[in-house]
Amino acid sequence: MPSLKAVLVIADGMADRPVKELDWKTPLEFARKPTLNRIAETGICGILDPIAPGIPPGSDTATLALLGYDAVKTYSGRGALEALGSNVKVLPGDVAFRCNFATVNQNQTVLDRRAGRIENRDSQKLAESLSQVKLKTPNARFLFKSTIQHRAVLVIRGPRLSANISDSDPGTTGEKVMDAKPLDDSPEAKLTARIVNTLTREFHKCLTSHPVNRERVKRGLPPANMILCRGAGTLPNVKSLAHIYGIKTSCVAATPLVRGVCRAVGMKTIDVQGATGTLQTDYLAKARATVQALRSNDFVLLHIKATDVASHDSKAKQKAEAIEKLDNMLNYLIEHVDLNSVYLAVTADHTTSSATGNHEGDPVPIAITGPSVRRDSVKEYDERSCAGGGLHRIRGVDLMPILMNLLGKTSKFGA
Ligand SMILES: [Zn+2]
Repeated sequence: MPSLKAVLVIADGMADRPVKELDWKTPLEFARKPTLNRIAETGICGILDPIAPGIPPGSDTATLALLGYDAVKTYSGRGALEALGSNVKVLPGDVAFRCNFATVNQNQTVLDRRAGRIENRDSQKLAESLSQVKLKTPNARFLFKSTIQHRAVLVIRGPRLSANISDSDPGTTGEKVMDAKPLDDSPEAKLTARIVNTLTREFHKCLTSHPVNRERVKRGLPPANMILCRGAGTLPNVKSLAHIYGIKTSCVAATPLVRGVCRAVGMKTIDVQGATGTLQTDYLAKARATVQALRSNDFVLLHIKATDVASHDSKAKQKAEAIEKLDNMLNYLIEHVDLNSVYLAVTADHTTSSATGNHEGDPVPIAITGPSVRRDSVKEYDERSCAGGGLHRIRGVDLMPILMNLLGKTSKFGA
């Protein structure tokens, strides 16, 4: 008998509420989705609260939960996950931040949080110079890396640091750059806040006189003369999936945050050409990479971001179109994996309302098809139909044990 394997497809923010524009259907109910329906019809369905009923999850906490981790206990901030997902090495004890190149005036008031959406060419040159800034705090060092356009990550390394500090990023234009403040009385939080504030000043000095910025001003572009930091975080203290279940795992995802979560739990991340984490992503390239990865892994996570992007833009029809492309991708998967030995689960990491444009706390649909699921009577894959299925209502953290039990990877509790 071939060994049992599983693919988990997470469509980011795919679940929704009924939308007026779609005649009070959800985008999932509105979309043409024969493959999703086939998965529901041949599988066991349900609805799933990523964290808990009514709690709107972030993509990071929800993905942690869907991989079987208690996000409330293990989540330790976005910064380290984002850094890890952007190919920056993060070690236990490091404190990492998401950063923006920004434009400020002489009073340190933020004029543009993205420095005119600075091009990679400029931000990379600036980042190289920032890496040379000397940090005088004994035993502490830092890494600064630009990722895409105005985005960057900062990692502070040293003994006795804390992520329990506030952002220097005011989060909006027209406000002054803030001092990072310790959020508790520990010497670790005080030290880390001091380092961030020192670096902010030194970075500003370096950027203000930088030839790249002088050139930008000449070209009529806003100078990238400030680095704003937010989302201080450390690596979550978790055991890897390999350790817990004895499985080999990989993930196919383009979004840095999701890649970071996967790496934090020991999954290998696969780079796919054309996978962009946008509406224009190459769905089939991701499906092909998943089929390939399944040859040498027991569990593969395939993440699609497009559904969430459309919801945040409040474009319900565009979201339905993304679901139809996802459906086509799932058809490729079904045709290229052997459902006699592979379980295929499809869910969303949270509900994103295309009316509010926000993550919401409603449950998401889940369907699992494969060799020996207890097939139920649900025939359509959407928020309301799946609610009548055999899985009933589960939590995100329940999904992985259910899948691993189907794979024969869980051990008995008790005698
Ligand atoms: Zn998400």
